[in-house]
Formats: sequence, structure tokens, C-alpha cells
Amino acid sequence: MALKDTVLTSARPFRVMVIGGSYGGLSTALNLWDLTQARLPRFNYAYDGPAPTERIPIQTTIVDERDGYYHLIGSPKSLICEKLATASWTRFKDIPALASPHFKIVRGRVTNIDCAAKVAHVLDTATGSILAESYDFLVVASGVRRTYPVVPQSSCRTDFLQEASKHSSQVRKASDVAIIGGGAVGVEMAAELKMLVPDQRVTLIHSRDRLLSSEPLPDEVAQQVLATLLEDGVEVILSQRVISTTRIDDAAEDHAWRLTLSDGRELVTGHVLNAISRCVPTSEYLPGRALDDHGYVKVQPSLQFAGDIPNPEHHYAIGDIASWPGIKRCGGAMHMGHYCALNIHQQMLALCRGGNPKYKTLVPSPPVIGLALGRKAVSYTPAEGVRHGEDLSKTLFGDDMANQSCRDYLKLSEACQQVP
Ligand SMILES: Cc1cc2nc3c(=O)[nH]c(=O)nc-3n(C[C@H](O)[C@H](O)[C@H](O)COP(=O)(O)OP(=O)(O)OC[C@H]3O[C@@H](n4cnc5c(N)ncnc54)[C@H](O)[C@@H]3O)c2cc1C
Repeated sequence: MALKDTVLTSARPFRVMVIGGSYGGLSTALNLWDLTQARLPRFNYAYDGPAPTERIPIQTTIVDERDGYYHLIGSPKSLICEKLATASWTRFKDIPALASPHFKIVRGRVTNIDCAAKVAHVLDTATGSILAESYDFLVVASGVRRTYPVVPQSSCRTDFLQEASKHSSQVRKASDVAIIGGGAVGVEMAAELKMLVPDQRVTLIHSRDRLLSSEPLPDEVAQQVLATLLEDGVEVILSQRVISTTRIDDAAEDHAWRLTLSDGRELVTGHVLNAISRCVPTSEYLPGRALDDHGYVKVQPSLQFAGDIPNPEHHYAIGDIASWPGIKRCGGAMHMGHYCALNIHQQMLALCRGGNPKYKTLVPSPPVIGLALGRKAVSYTPAEGVRHGEDLSKTLFGDDMANQSCRDYLKLSEACQQVP
């Protein structure tokens, strides 16, 4: 018998529960599936070692409030572009990579985790009842909450398409639009809108004297972003806070809102988009001792919980919800998912055949950013410095805000391969 045909035995399949079926959660679930099928993980771009020689029985449950995988980073464009909206949300049941009885998808909201008993309580969307799901390993990948219109608020594909269509028609019919907040989301919203509706007057208002002021990035990044926006016809007002936003009764649609700025200036506009959204971690279902002062999950470099809870070694947190330095990014969430899968696999091996798990540990990453600004992009890494332009946009985002490249990276369209 070839080594690959060897199946390690445990009393029953390992039960892995993943909370959140987005970049981080799917990365863990799919990389772990590869490893337990005695294959190199799909993210094996930097060498992870030889492929495992034995298969391990596993049952993965993915719980999500949404009915599918949503390409969140495309939101500044997908909310105003129906074609991209349609491609941005794929119901879990339509994802070939998850089409296996080894993956169970539960649509619902996790309400409580009992770390001692290793049981997750889930409010099942379909029945309204609370399910108690036992697990051996828990992966918390439920990210942060953000408000509309930074992200859509729908939890199923049908509602999302309606939400995007309504948003798009409201925004497109205005002859001018004011966007409040020049952070990463605001600058992307402004640039995408100007590209999609070139005749529209788009004004971006930011309270500080430089864009992206809350990101730990060099000034030259903000300067390049500002130059790109101005080049493409976005008007930018810096160092002004919006003091009030008032609806003008009986005014024409083009003059529906009056904004008062901190210097007393008034701006009349047809539509206002608020791009300021505080990120609130979705960790309310976890014990307080697992969390830092801001509600993010304290993790070790292995991504296992660092807080004082029972069984910390069987609890992992990844992606935006993890208390980890650096700019929160989808690439970071997927990278953490990869490491989390490697570490859980190590633990499974150790439980089956003895020995100690060899953990991969995450190194704090330097600030890195890539921004899609209409037909152009601006990026920054400490090694490459600031880059910008149309070619960069094609490389980083394609023409669909990197929707296809994220799907390809996760191999969502490839059928779930199982050794017979
Ligand atoms: C507008 C915008 C643009 C962005 N652009 C970029 C970019 O260009 N590049 C980049 O690298 N990053 C970008 N980001 C950041 C990136 O989107 C996040 O870093 C990434 O989504 C984090 O992935 P995650 O898997 O940790 O969480 P998320 O993608 O937030 O997914 C969390 C999942 O958990 C589910 N969930 C939440 N609570 C519960 C619960 N209690 N029970 C069950 N399920 C739950 C949610 O429904 C969701 O599916 C952008 C973010 C925004 C908002």
C-alpha cells in the first residue's frame, strides 16, 4: 500500500468548526482539507515541507450569517456596478470546492462559545432555533462589523443584489456626490465612482490634512493617492470636518443635501456617502478573557488563543478579528488561515501518532497596502516603496477588484478533491 493510502485513525473524524466563511475562514477550511487528504496545502507557495503521507478523517463545519462567500474588498465598485455585484457573491452551495459531505455549512449566527465543553451555540437562520455544535478545534474568523455603505448589510445573495441595485441607482442619478472620509474606503469609493460615472462631480471631504491619516503609512503614499484622485477629476477637500448634513426639503434631486463644513463653508450636493465606519469586532460570542480592550481576540504567534480560557490550544483566531499588528487585509486573513490550517494539522498528527506539534508562527508584518483607484492603483510595501499606475492596477486588481484572483487563490471553482 502506498503511504498516501494510509489513513490515520482517531476515535472519530476530527470536528473542526470555522466561524466565518470569508477570506480567513475559507483559507483555513480548504488548506486543512488538502493537508488531511495527504496533499500539500493549496497555499503552498513558500515551501511548507513535503506533502503529508497519511490522510486524516475530518469533518468541517462552516458557520456564517451570510448564505455565501462575499468578495468584500470589491464593495466600493460592486455596490455601483451590477456586473461586478453579480460575480461578487457566491452561495456556499454553489462553490465546487466545498461540495463534499466533509463540509457542513450552517447559515446562522454564533451566539456563544463554551470553551471548556468545546461547544458552539448557533442561532440557525432557517429555523430560528439554537443549535449546539461540538468541536475539537475552533477557528474564529468572523471579522469586524462595518456600516452601510462601506459594506452591504444583506446576508443573502438575493437581498445583496437588490441592495446593490438600489444603491447604484440612487448614487448614479445624482449629478454630484459628496463622500465623507478619506480613509482607504473613501478614496476607493471616490475613484471608482468617478470612473463609472465620469460626468458626475465627486467631492471627497476629509477632516485631516492628509488622506489615509489613520493608516501607519509614509506621507508619500497619501500624496500619491491625492495626486491620482485629482488627476482623475475627483475634488478633494482636506482639513475640514463635516459639522452637519441636512436634507433640503422640496429641493431638486441635485440639491438634496446641504453639508456644513468646520470652516463654515456650505456645500450642496445630490447624494452623500459616509465612508467613515468604525470597525467593531464580532467577538461578542466569546468570553471576555479571550479579548483585548478593544474586543479583538488575543492570539499567540501560532494564532492560538492567548487569553486565559480553557483549552486555548484548540482555539484559533485569524483575520480581522485577531489582535495582531499591521493593516487589516484580506491577504493577511488568507495567510493567517494557511498557518492556522498547518498548525491544526500538526496537532491532529500529534494526537493520532504521538509527538509534539511543530507550529508555524506568524511574524508581525510591516504596513502594506494596495488601493484600487478607478483604472489606476497605488500600492506601498517597505521593500518596493510607493508604486502607482494603470499597469499596477491590472496586476493587483484585474478589472474586477481582484474578485477572480481571490477566488483562484482559494481555488473555489475547483471541485473538492477527495482520495477515494
Ligand atoms: C470596502 C473595503 C475595501 C477593502 N479593500 C481591501 C483591499 O483592497 N485589499 C485588502 O487586502 N483588504 C481590503 N479590505 C480589508 C479586507 O476586506 C479584510 O481584511 C478582510 O475581509 C478580512 O477577512 P476575514 O476573513 O477576517 O473577515 P471578513 O471578510 O469580514 O468575513 C467575516 C465573515 O464572518 C461572518 N460572521 C460575522 N459574525 C458572525 C457570527 N457571529 N456568526 C457567524 N458568522 C459571522 C460574516 O458574515 C463574514 O462572512 C477592505 C475592506 C473594506 C471594508
